[in-house]
Amino acid sequence: MSERPTETAHRAALEGYRWDGVEVRRYKDEPAALYKDVTRQVLFSDPRLKGELRYFEVAPGGHSTLEKHEHMHAVLVLRGGGKCLIGGEVRALKLNDLVTVPPWTWHQFRAGKDEPLGFLCLVNAERDRPQLPSQSELSELKSDPAVRDFLDGK
Ligand code: MN
Repeated sequence: MSERPTETAHRAALEGYRWDGVEVRRYKDEPAALYKDVTRQVLFSDPRLKGELRYFEVAPGGHSTLEKHEHMHAVLVLRGGGKCLIGGEVRALKLNDLVTVPPWTWHQFRAGKDEPLGFLCLVNAERDRPQLPSQSELSELKSDPAVRDFLDGK
């Protein structure tokens, strides 16, 4: 199945946060060392619509990549819970919480130790590539104890 357009008007939800005809993909085409135990499903992607809606699922103890970019994210927690880092702030996430990631803001999502974190993520269809923190940017982020604990998975 291609990542791009689908004319299917209705896709049934399946067991376990899956959808009929939607492939469970690798989270990203990047070194796996930067994230842990994340899957991606592209729910809506059509050139006539300038956005894409994806469902990401972070397994217990897993996390997304720490990154920033010009494009924004709008996130809705659909399964489980965990935490996120947005800019310099760590926030607890529970079911149905909403998260806005503004442009050029460091962000990372972490599942709880014993529960997955599944979320919908709305994003521009055309978008810039994520940037990773340099060592000095990482050090600066970690100068805040709460952020350091978050990034260290504590
Ligand atoms: Mn991102």
